[in-house]
Amino acid sequence: MTYKFVPPYIKDITPYPPGKPIEEVERELGIKNSVKIASNENPLGTSPRAIKAIHKALRTLNRYPDGSAFYLKNALSALHRVPPESLIIGNGSNELIELIIRTFIQPGDEAVISDPSFLIYSITVKAAGGKSVIVRLRDDYSYDIKGVLRAVTKRTRLIFISNPNNPTGTIIGKKEYAWLLGNIPPHVIVIDDAAYREFVQSADYPDGIDELRGKDRNLIVLRTFSKLYGLAGLRIGYGVTTGELAGYIDRVRQPFNVNTLAQTAAIAALGDRVFVNKTLANNREGLRYLYRALEHMNIPFIRTQANFFILRVAPFLSGRQAFDALLRKGVIVRDMTSYGLGDYIRINVGTPSENRKFIRELGALLKARL
Ligand SMILES: *Cc1c(COP(=O)(O)O)cnc(C)c1O
Repeated sequence: MTYKFVPPYIKDITPYPPGKPIEEVERELGIKNSVKIASNENPLGTSPRAIKAIHKALRTLNRYPDGSAFYLKNALSALHRVPPESLIIGNGSNELIELIIRTFIQPGDEAVISDPSFLIYSITVKAAGGKSVIVRLRDDYSYDIKGVLRAVTKRTRLIFISNPNNPTGTIIGKKEYAWLLGNIPPHVIVIDDAAYREFVQSADYPDGIDELRGKDRNLIVLRTFSKLYGLAGLRIGYGVTTGELAGYIDRVRQPFNVNTLAQTAAIAALGDRVFVNKTLANNREGLRYLYRALEHMNIPFIRTQANFFILRVAPFLSGRQAFDALLRKGVIVRDMTSYGLGDYIRINVGTPSENRKFIRELGALLKARL
């Protein structure tokens, strides 16, 4: 260690726990055809319409992308009935999280973040020299909205909510959402990360975009093409907010932050009703199957509004042990230790055969432990 000038708040960051490439894991363990249900990806692949559009766009890669994302913004504007000026497009919604933090947080400013929630929020706040103020979820893993508001100080600029929340799959209901928006002071912006919005089945889910239509609110709703549309590898997401806030974020953005293939694929994916419906049906049916199987095995889990959920492998195993043992059997799940949930693993809904393989291997594992 010779470099002594790195900012202390950068040194202090716990890096986001990366996973190894599936091919490498298989090579090391000498296994094949493993099932990955660890990252909430679309188990059915990518929207076929998007793939077709990508093929066509390959010929234009000598050109820089459309820096204003003109056609994509028009498509999203029509879909959500909001003006194109209120949209921001990012290299994944993760980039938007970073741009928002860099736009609104100065060193020493605070962001209120719930725990357990998406790890990226606090890492990125830290990287900007900001301070994360952590509010625990309630015992039933729902958001403590009152606690969130109590945590607001003069230095607070952002409140992050993940709705549905990753990793718990829980949602904030309409009443609490409205109460939060109605009670934030004018120096605070709510970031509503709705990455899993399309999977929600509850009628009590508040769509943040409705709150923005024709209204001026300090609210940014984030959406992504990574999950429902199966475009995680291409990196594209968007935000809906007011024209004013979108304008500030746009000043921080690199002019060509979203590549051509991603923009083209996103427009095509928005029109792929067949793929969307297949994905949602697979998710509903997969959840029904997994819930029933886990109940049968007496394994506690948290009911989800998304395409993933957490289940408790203790007292038989720790989450880490379950992760390791399942990996050896060719099932890749997410160990929740880094989220402070050492007794849990998180899985996403896979294809029917992937779901069955998971249940089979988990069952065998627990039997061996009994
Ligand atoms: C997966 C996920 C996203 C999506 O991120 P991208 O950068 O758009 O791939 C955003 N927020 C949460 C909470 C997620 O789990």
